[in-house]
Amino acid sequence: MEVGVAMEPPEVREVETASVACDGGGGALGHPKVYLNMGDKRQVDCPYCGRRFVLKAGAKASAAH
Ligand SMILES: [Zn+2]
Repeated sequence: MEVGVAMEPPEVREVETASVACDGGGGALGHPKVYLNMGDKRQVDCPYCGRRFVLKAGAKASAAH
């Protein structure tokens, strides 16, 4: 089975805060930096590059202390 080179599997990144910024990794493959907020879902997909950000286990979704 051949897979088109343009269809890379989405990358999953674990982060410690519900607010993340994504620029596609920078360089030629990047995109304008966007800020994403997970809200209460603990994960969010970047609409530009499809990268998925997942809140690390144990991390708080909010900044409450
Ligand atoms: Zn992105």
